[in-house]
Amino acid sequence: MSELKTECPVCGALMILLSGTIEGELFPCRECGSQMEVVSLDPVVVAEAAAEEEDWGQ
Ligand SMILES: [Zn+2]
Repeated sequence: MSELKTECPVCGALMILLSGTIEGELFPCRECGSQMEVVSLDPVVVAEAAAEEEDWGQ
């Protein structure tokens, strides 16, 4: 299986998705720490996932 590569939409760092990664999977960017969600695998699209801790609104 080939590696799936994309860029972090927040900091632009190269991100490599391991084979076996599935759509909807969450993982942190190792550069900026933002939580990412895999939106699509072909092509690879990731988006910043909403941080649940920030939903308290204070
Ligand atoms: Zn990042």
